[in-house]
Amino acid sequence: MPETTAIIYSPRHREHQPRIEVLYGRHTPHPERPERVEAIRLAIAGSRWEHTVRGPSSFPIVIATSVHEPAYVAFLHEHADLAAEEGLDGEWFPYTWPRDRGLDLGTPISKHTVDLAWHSAECALTAAKVVRDGAPWSFSIGRPPGHHASVGAHGGYCYFNHAALVAQSFLDAPSMTGRTADRVAILDLDIHHGNGTQDIFYASDRVFYASIHGEPDWAYPPHSGFAGETGTRAGSGANYNQPLPIGTGWREYSHALDRAFDRMAQFDPSHLVVSQGFDTFSGDRWGGFELHAPDYARIGERLRTFGRPIVIILEGGYEPANIAAGTMSLLDGLA
Ligand SMILES: [Zn+2]
Repeated sequence: MPETTAIIYSPRHREHQPRIEVLYGRHTPHPERPERVEAIRLAIAGSRWEHTVRGPSSFPIVIATSVHEPAYVAFLHEHADLAAEEGLDGEWFPYTWPRDRGLDLGTPISKHTVDLAWHSAECALTAAKVVRDGAPWSFSIGRPPGHHASVGAHGGYCYFNHAALVAQSFLDAPSMTGRTADRVAILDLDIHHGNGTQDIFYASDRVFYASIHGEPDWAYPPHSGFAGETGTRAGSGANYNQPLPIGTGWREYSHALDRAFDRMAQFDPSHLVVSQGFDTFSGDRWGGFELHAPDYARIGERLRTFGRPIVIILEGGYEPANIAAGTMSLLDGLA
């Protein structure tokens, strides 16, 4: 019997508590907090979606090397071990790029970071399994997020790239029909460009990456997400960035969505992976767009009418009440 829809959640995310980031020369309380996901979980508890919530399965961490360099995974383990002795109150920060494989001072590594980041990846991989087993869609609400983690570097609060792991799992593992996917599309709807996801599949003709995000001159990361980045070698034309100005509201955003869906339809993927950030919500501390709760239902409808099995993965969004409101609205649109 085909699986039904599932929302994948594990309370272990609460143990991932990065303490500070170094921002413009100051120690700042880290904004990627457990409250982000707990607000969603609480909203789901009182809703018709409660019965769809389930925990993740275990996956061996060697799967991380399907999209990351083995040396990067080894680096994360080594620095988790070093954090207590070399870190700042137990948190290790990069010193030099590229040796230290870190894009910024916002993504500390502490003793349990690798275990907990992999547990978030397990939530996403479980969501992928649910869809391979026949569910029309699934939603992973793990944290930390993943789309800034590249082939060989962490950054932007991300350590393992969940969207990439899920897309790669569709290419590698057969679904209930016994077939693997030929082509997968990733739609990145976080306000920040998914530089890691783009990096991982930049030369691939099997994964189409489409992103709608803030222009790199004002939205993180500053080095990636330009419209001229369209893929390379076999992947030429399979990367589609739409950087948008600060203040973008639903009208402009919906046109960008139309263009992204047109391009993805031309690519004709069998599966869709969505990196969903709620930092596009009006008033987000790291935002700049002007989307509101009902707009996420419209996004959910667009995802549903695309007609492919979908795995949605939580990325950013830093105002817990808005993340919860956006999620519930998105679920309404998917239903
Ligand atoms: Zn973001």
